[in-house]
Amino acid sequence: MDPEEQARTLLKAKGLRVTGSRAALVAALMRAHEPVSLEAAHKLAGSAGGDQATVYRNLQALTGAGMLRQVKGVGRREMFELTVHGHRHGHAHMACTRCGRVECVELDGMPQQPPKLKGWNVSDLTVTVWGLCPACR
Ligand SMILES: [Zn+2]
Ligand SMILES: [Zn+2]
Repeated sequence: MDPEEQARTLLKAKGLRVTGSRAALVAALMRAHEPVSLEAAHKLAGSAGGDQATVYRNLQALTGAGMLRQVKGVGRREMFELTVHGHRHGHAHMACTRCGRVECVELDGMPQQPPKLKGWNVSDLTVTVWGLCPACR
């Protein structure tokens, strides 16, 4: 199955309307294997992904449907990654303090579940490792 075909299947499975621009966006995110910003998603999806406003709307719609997760706490830009297609919950992110690039990373001993904290209703657990990426070192 090519990525576009896989993307259409994933969209259908989430009960989302399948459009050419959404399929192109999801296929681009599958190829990226790391969180991407709006600008990067627009570039990666190419002309099939539509203009930047279309990409933005699709990112919001797919995030709302739980197909994408906004990667929080990694700095200046909003970054998005797929919640499906091999992206497990509970991995950490490496963020470059210079160029803002973000990569997913599996850390040994990373808590998969937040500790039970008295009186708190925990909704998410994120770990971000800061540093300089290979290109910026
Ligand atoms: Zn960098
Ligand atoms: Zn990630």
